[in-house]
Amino acid sequence: MPSAEILSIGTELLLGHVLDTNSQFLARELAGLGIDCFFRSTVGDNKVRIKDAALAALSRADILITSGGLGPTADDLTTECLAELFEAPLDFDETVFAKIEKFFIASRFPMPESNRKQALRPRGADILPNNNGTAPGIIWQLDESTLSKFAIPGKGKVILTFPGVPQELYAMWNETAKPFLQNYFSGKKIWSCQLKHFGIGESALAQKYAHLLDLANPTVAPYAGFGECRLTVTAKGATEEEAKTIAKPVIDEILQTSADHCYGFDDETLESVVGKLLLAQKKTLAVAESCTGGLVSQRLTDISGSSAYIKLNLITYSNEAKMDMLQVPESILVEHGAVSAQCAEAMAKGILKLAKSDIGLSITGVAGPDGGTEEKPVGLVYIGLATRNAYRDSHLNLPSHLSRANIRQRAASAALNMVRLFLLENT
Ligand code: AMP
Ligand code: MG
Repeated sequence: MPSAEILSIGTELLLGHVLDTNSQFLARELAGLGIDCFFRSTVGDNKVRIKDAALAALSRADILITSGGLGPTADDLTTECLAELFEAPLDFDETVFAKIEKFFIASRFPMPESNRKQALRPRGADILPNNNGTAPGIIWQLDESTLSKFAIPGKGKVILTFPGVPQELYAMWNETAKPFLQNYFSGKKIWSCQLKHFGIGESALAQKYAHLLDLANPTVAPYAGFGECRLTVTAKGATEEEAKTIAKPVIDEILQTSADHCYGFDDETLESVVGKLLLAQKKTLAVAESCTGGLVSQRLTDISGSSAYIKLNLITYSNEAKMDMLQVPESILVEHGAVSAQCAEAMAKGILKLAKSDIGLSITGVAGPDGGTEEKPVGLVYIGLATRNAYRDSHLNLPSHLSRANIRQRAASAALNMVRLFLLENT
């Protein structure tokens, strides 16, 4: 039976500031996979001690799993320590760096120079992707000849590194590491893909596909975050082609059952899918945003080439701007308020006319944490979609305990999804 050791890295753990819940999660998961775990250790952010602890673990176990120390700051040392231990140069991985840059663009923060460090990969190691943060981990398979050079016994060992942030670690485990370990000793190839969903919750998705979640090959794992859900389908086979063939019937079933709840695969986003549909249908879009403060516009224009279909986006935050720029009648604002179905309709029709686009989209709502009333609580959002001869709207009642940023993100996603569904009806 293979064995693994867990090494938690972080001075905050030794000081008792943070409880090591990652080890608990990993230990439980390893037990579920039938992988023995005889030792667990914790070490601070110290190079000598990290290397010592890693070496000790590798001399005992087949698999070393680390958590923590993958961040951009000077005390994040895990990758560096492992590279030094095995005298592997650190290569700058352009693909990883592009993903980190994209992450910063999406989060609207400028990228600090120190984040470049997170794109460093020890030569010979593979990337363990992180779809929820900037720090990817590595999967490093060490063969017997490499190990013998460093006086480590064994035919082959593997190192997996995870960031400390629990939500990122869980997702990386479920999406990549777990299927990898399930197959590590069987010598098979793994292929996996993500089916991205919007407009259906994680538990509803898990219920719908309960019969798939226990499959052994392919495996199907649900994961939720930021109002979206995805199903990761992972198959193993003698070759990658065979693995894909094994996954196909399950993917086909999900696509058929989920229908338009499934908006795309892997790196696709709601905005990239909307962009593709607009391009294919040669249609243009204009957006008038209130509570999302430009988020929809930003996400749409994150897509390179979006100038082909984005005509004009306005952030009409004040009542004056809604009246002056979009011709929202004052009577609507007085009678129904800026957060109302009537205002959303006037905004959508106003931006459509102003931009002379094929579609006008509007969003108005209460992003919180202040400004909510009993009648119009935090999380109430109206979305309008106008074309020259049609209008439709929808509204969201998001949980009012969500953060302002979260409400804005979810409202933006819902608005993009409404455009997507509208365009799908035309295909
Ligand atoms: P790091 O990847 O070391 O930068 O860790 C990022 C954050 O994740 C830390 O500030 C902790 O709050 C949290 N964290 C780190 N290690 C653990 C752990 N073993 N269990 C739970 N949370 C952790
Ligand atoms: Mg740390």
